[in-house]
Amino acid sequence: MIIANWKMNGNRAQVIEWLDCLQKYLTLSEQSECIFCPPLIYMDIAQEQISLNKMKITLGSQNLDYDSKHPKTGGIDASMLNDLGCKSVIIGHSERRLYFSENNSILSKKLVSASKNNIDIVFCIGETEAEKDKGLCHEVLREQLKALSGLQIKKLFIAYEPVWAIGTGKIPSMKYIEEIHHFIKDELKCSHYYNSDRPVLYGGSVNFDNASEISNLDSVNGLLVGGASLNPRNFSDIVKKIGQNNIWKIY
Ligand code: PEP
Repeated sequence: MIIANWKMNGNRAQVIEWLDCLQKYLTLSEQSECIFCPPLIYMDIAQEQISLNKMKITLGSQNLDYDSKHPKTGGIDASMLNDLGCKSVIIGHSERRLYFSENNSILSKKLVSASKNNIDIVFCIGETEAEKDKGLCHEVLREQLKALSGLQIKKLFIAYEPVWAIGTGKIPSMKYIEEIHHFIKDELKCSHYYNSDRPVLYGGSVNFDNASEISNLDSVNGLLVGGASLNPRNFSDIVKKIGQNNIWKIY
């Protein structure tokens, strides 16, 4: 699976152009491996374009607000995402944790809301550079995974995104990625997190040059791409390159 996270970028014309380009360059089966997460305001136009072109790409949201008996001004809940044709949601992105103070208690409520509404979840976790330097990586990830504790979530993907790699052009060594992905998978196998295998994606400065090496790692089940997903040719080339290497791992 490859996720295109546009963050707060783009406009209506770019959404149309991006989808047209993917329609031209990617086969239906390549499209079906992709999740497109534009800003929520462009979800409608993206959905229209996907239906019009009979595309197989999935629409995802970059965020949702949890259900509440007291609906909040400006909030968008999971039922509204359903209404927009959105099938996946990113929860716990480091920017939401940092700039919107999203802690485990808030994230758990979001996870429950998405799950109750049958929206697939991409749950992001990752350590900061300072935490890495202090040797706290495992501890930090273990703590972030506690947001999942006791929850029954059918469709869950974990995205490991070292905060220090996001948008910086720095990526961890392949050995480091492999070790952390195995750690996450092992943690998820312990009983209070469902005792099962879950796909773990990598995110953080993925581009055309490093995508296939990262994807080829045994423990990497997909990629979350930010900056390099904005240009449709660039993103299509990443998808094609990975597909050609036959590294799709099916779950
Ligand atoms: C992201 O924001 O989740 C991300 C992975 O960004 P980038 O690819 O630009 O590092």
